[in-house]
Amino acid sequence: MTTDDKTNDPALKSWLVSANQPDCHFPIQNLPFGVFTTAGKPEKRVGVAIGDQILDLSVLEKTWLIPISKDIFSAPDINRFMSLGPKVWAEVRAVVSALLDASSRTLQDDEDLRALALVSQADATLHMPVQVGDYTDFYASKEHATNVGTMFRDPDNALMPNWLHIPIGYNGRASTVVASGTDIHRPLGQIKPPGSDGPIFDACRKLDMELEIAAIVGTSNPMGQPITVDQANEMIFGYVILNDWSARDIQVWEYQPLGPFQAKAFASTISPWVVTRAAMEPFRQAGPVQDPEPLPYLRQKAGYNYNLKLQVTVQPEAAAKATTICKTNFKYMYWSSPQQLAHHAACGCAMRSGDLLGSGTISGQDKDSLGSFLELSWNGQNPMTLDGGESRTFIEDGDTISMTGWCQGDGYRIGFGDATGKILPAVQHPSLKEM
Ligand code: CA
Repeated sequence: MTTDDKTNDPALKSWLVSANQPDCHFPIQNLPFGVFTTAGKPEKRVGVAIGDQILDLSVLEKTWLIPISKDIFSAPDINRFMSLGPKVWAEVRAVVSALLDASSRTLQDDEDLRALALVSQADATLHMPVQVGDYTDFYASKEHATNVGTMFRDPDNALMPNWLHIPIGYNGRASTVVASGTDIHRPLGQIKPPGSDGPIFDACRKLDMELEIAAIVGTSNPMGQPITVDQANEMIFGYVILNDWSARDIQVWEYQPLGPFQAKAFASTISPWVVTRAAMEPFRQAGPVQDPEPLPYLRQKAGYNYNLKLQVTVQPEAAAKATTICKTNFKYMYWSSPQQLAHHAACGCAMRSGDLLGSGTISGQDKDSLGSFLELSWNGQNPMTLDGGESRTFIEDGDTISMTGWCQGDGYRIGFGDATGKILPAVQHPSLKEM
């Protein structure tokens, strides 16, 4: 797919040379938004990643360079900016692109302003970029749903009868969506061990990851007013990588009849840079053929899948290096994020700026393209051997899981950075301390 947007021109180079390396995640064509602090200035503010630097937009909004009111980027999240809508998003993207372009002297030659507005990523702490209002998680990979259905129900009828007609989802917890780098304690919950008459309360024994991409809703629809798939696409500001941590043994005991609850509520990790829909536009493509054809309200005029490469590594505490355990692509998803958003609003549900929509676990058809330990180890039956010799069926204490991804352009990458989290031992429940 090609676009007329000059900010997507593969030939663009920045005067910041670190941005021009072919494997850099943050070239001038990307310009993702994030929230950061520094030791010298602990106030959260909004910036754009460029090369190994951050362009501090809270500094630039105080100058004439960015045509926007003064308190949009001096904010602890990007919600205020997102609520201004696609026209303003495009204006700001064009201005930032022009300022960082190799041919532009304005910022390049202004030593004082450059010293204020550019922060090394190595000196910054990244935070949650968005104040997440509501978090909804879907189940949109046909390969993943087929694998799970094969394992837990019936290989001959792996997909539920509704699956090809409706984007399946559930309402998750916004309160425990955290930025990359946040440690996660192994969750506690009710488990019914095999052969046991009743449940016990204990630390999860089948702790898992789920490799997902999450759409971030930028603009809202009023309650009672449904939207088309194309309108839904316009409402999406951008995308992040999401690790939807899952406790499989808690899940299997609790999920009927209302779906996942505590098994998913303890943590969800996102990558800290929101990659804009505008930056991903050259990588947009049609998804798999949807057969049967979706009902009219779910039909899409354009393809809303993205050619976005993804990979996952695990590194045990004692291991010298990480092992890649999954390589897949977001393009395989059966239901697109705009279809999920349109479906979510179809009943009259109000979707708000800052809402997060998880795609569902992204699995491909190959054995090394599976986005969960559940599938990689086939529910524990086939342990994986990691580099260094350790084996895994599920995640152990001290393991660090890291997810990354990028859209590969001609000589540049639209990168997402990492969504990383380390698993710490379970905490002791307060009721047990009293005994
Ligand atoms: Ca999930």
